[in-house]
Amino acid sequence: HATKKTMVDHLRKYESAFTLTPQRMRMITEAFKDTLEHGLKEYGQIVPMIPTYVFGWPTGEEKGDFLAVDLGGTNLRVCLVTLQGEGKFEITQTKYRLTEEQKHGDGEKLFDFCAECLQTFINTNTPEDGTGLIKPGQELALGFTFSYPCAQERIDHGQLIRWTKGFGAHNTEGRDVAAMFRTSLEKLHLPVKLTALINDTTGTLIASHYVNPRTKIAVIFGTGCNAAYMENVSEIGKIDNLGIEKSAQMAINCEWGAFDSFQHEHLPRTKYDQIVDETSNKPGEQAFEKLISGRYLGEILRLVICELTDEGVLFLGQNTYKIEKAYSFDTAFLSLMESDPTEELLMIIGIFSHFFALETTLAERQFFRALARLVGRRAARLSACGIAAIVGKMGYLEEGCAVGADGSLYNKYPKFADRVHEGLQDIFGDKGRNIVTHHAEDGSGVGSAIIAAMTKIRK
Ligand code: ADP
Repeated sequence: HATKKTMVDHLRKYESAFTLTPQRMRMITEAFKDTLEHGLKEYGQIVPMIPTYVFGWPTGEEKGDFLAVDLGGTNLRVCLVTLQGEGKFEITQTKYRLTEEQKHGDGEKLFDFCAECLQTFINTNTPEDGTGLIKPGQELALGFTFSYPCAQERIDHGQLIRWTKGFGAHNTEGRDVAAMFRTSLEKLHLPVKLTALINDTTGTLIASHYVNPRTKIAVIFGTGCNAAYMENVSEIGKIDNLGIEKSAQMAINCEWGAFDSFQHEHLPRTKYDQIVDETSNKPGEQAFEKLISGRYLGEILRLVICELTDEGVLFLGQNTYKIEKAYSFDTAFLSLMESDPTEELLMIIGIFSHFFALETTLAERQFFRALARLVGRRAARLSACGIAAIVGKMGYLEEGCAVGADGSLYNKYPKFADRVHEGLQDIFGDKGRNIVTHHAEDGSGVGSAIIAAMTKIRK
């Protein structure tokens, strides 16, 4: 009779599906580089390479008080940033909760609410005796971090292409959101001047460079995945007609999560990745992001577990309805499973019994941990390909550079950073050591303020 396969036998199959060889990584990197170049030349490319109208690096000597408003998710954040020069700053901030009604009601009301929160923040920090952070009568420049896709032609303007991340306020798509916010600010006669509309990834690039001038690239690994870097204007063919000085530099918001979308010719997708894609609300789109970001890694692992459950390998005789629910397996569980310090893998016992009412054997738990490692490692190594593409394009390998990285996946997933670095060495050999990621500075607050300061100086 046939011998029963052990969990170790099963693991072998997944190892080959999820492992990326150095050679494959170099091929992906090359294709990625071509894609970035296409995006710079023409509009309407898969990876849009969005011009940000942020010109060049900060000097580190930007000084003064700046306000920043960050509208990008669950909370609205208002910050006062004091730039002290020499790459130093101080920040004071308050968060305001957004209701579902505000996210989905009338757009003008949403911006009115943002202005009201800013008013509350200014009033609180401007006591009449002049002892507060803001002095009575002081007028401040304001940077507005608005992390939804916008079409921009200059820094203080941006037409909302479409809402994402669960927002859907009416009468806003297709309109200039900076102008809408300005109207709301004027209604309240606030002593502020909205000088810059920015994306959080661009803010992260500028803030990280302000503090560490070796930073040339910024990457975000959170719910989604994106990158920004500084490009030579002479390379951005699609804005040739604007007559911008060719020797200038401009930050590019890559929106690289879209790499390999629709055609699926470069990235190694397993059948689990295909299911994630087909059952997503936007099949075909964001192909790179779907292999990497926090929103999807837990789901990929869950699909493997469910396949083995269907085959009768796992959880025989147990009720599995909880783990069968799509997106029930959070990416944070992968982190927890990989960092379980106990021999018995008690953390993994806890996750399965507490969240899914399932009992596990030690061999199964070892299998789950190995699987988490495969999925997490693949994500980090693919990220390395994206970073390597920018490094290669800009010729940063010899002199080396720093990469500012942010998002829960980077900050909380153990070994994620090490695996990115290991991937860079697989692609570039020893010279890959010249490229080092580090935890980025707060892009949507501090970055926004620095860009507001840069804009003020330019004008
Ligand atoms: P956002 O990108 O929405 O601004 P985050 O950077 O916090 O926010 O990313 C949220 C994503 O990170 C979620 O998909 C979540 O599953 C994932 N996540 C949260 N905590 C962890 C963790 N400890 N390890 C790995 N992933 C995590």
